Amino acid sequence: MNLDAIYRATLEKWGTEGQYDQAVEECAELITVLKHFRRGKADAAAVINELADVTLMVGQLSYMFGEAEVQKAIGVKLEKLDGLLAEQD
Ligand SMILES: [Mg+2]
Repeated sequence: MNLDAIYRATLEKWGTEGQYDQAVEECAELITVLKHFRRGKADAAAVINELADVTLMVGQLSYMFGEAEVQKAIGVKLEKLDGLLAEQD
């Protein structure tokens, strides 16, 4: 499965604004299911289902904003986190 082809097709079909809205909606659904999970009102499968939605939307947004730039930012954050963890040891 070519994810870039899917992201491109999705963008062409629903547009940029539609993708922003969908990403926000999926993040909100993950927030909600995590709150329910903590209270025993949702199971792990429900959380996994919403994680899959958010993961796909992160992929979609990364495709739109530039995957290389996102990877670069992730690298910077991981370096910073590594430094913080080393400080606490
Ligand atoms: Mg969802």
